[in-house]
Amino acid sequence: MTSHRNPIFVEDAEVIEHQAFPAAQYMLRLQAPQCAATARPGQFVHLQCDPQLPLRRPLSVLRAERDSGRIDVLYKVVGKGTALLSQRRPGETVSLLGPVGNGFTFDPGRPLKLLLGGGVGMPPMIFLADRLRSTSDLKAFVILDPRCHSPSIRDLHGSTSRACRRRLPPPCRCWRTGVSPRA
Ligand SMILES: Cc1cc2nc3c(=O)[nH]c(=O)nc-3n(C[C@H](O)[C@H](O)[C@H](O)COP(=O)(O)OP(=O)(O)OC[C@H]3O[C@@H](n4cnc5c(N)ncnc54)[C@H](O)[C@@H]3O)c2cc1C
Repeated sequence: MTSHRNPIFVEDAEVIEHQAFPAAQYMLRLQAPQCAATARPGQFVHLQCDPQLPLRRPLSVLRAERDSGRIDVLYKVVGKGTALLSQRRPGETVSLLGPVGNGFTFDPGRPLKLLLGGGVGMPPMIFLADRLRSTSDLKAFVILDPRCHSPSIRDLHGSTSRACRRRLPPPCRCWRTGVSPRA
């Protein structure tokens, strides 16, 4: 029998960077080359937040870079697991299992994509918008509702992204990739 699933790896991922943002949010960058090489938008990783905590916690992939072998996740501290995870420092290792999940699929007959994400649903949308921009001619229009003060797209992506605030009800944010939906 042929399996259609991609492999799921278990890696001892080194913490490269762990950045705190307001409202107990963190951006964690991990060195996990096997997972980074195959992760697709919409997939997530299972992280062991601390050796004393046997159950892994699922976090969506915000960014995966095949060349550098790095995975980014953006998470909010809500309980014991994420609180322990927030203590991890650069140089430490975190056991990572992933990538998990099916990821998004596209209908090529619909070249303009509308991406909607709120709260913890934002990271996969950011990953998807990045991939669409860098690997295809598909256009995306993205609306993100952070629910609370959230790291801005510019904070997450540096100056390479074109972030824009449109006249949408706060705290909605709109980020365009490619051309505007009217084009
Ligand atoms: C597919 C997916 C993607 C997600 N992506 C993000 C993201 O990108 N960013 C973000 O901030 N949050 C994300 N979340 C939510 C995040 O996983 C939870 O906020 C986190 O697990 C809370 O863990 P905690 O220990 O801090 O909180 P707690 O409230 O202490 O734990 C939550 C409850 O779930 C139980 N639990 C935790 N992990 C597991 C597990 N692996 N199996 C069974 N039970 C478990 C705990 O025992 C506890 O009862 C995602 C969740 C899912 C399912």
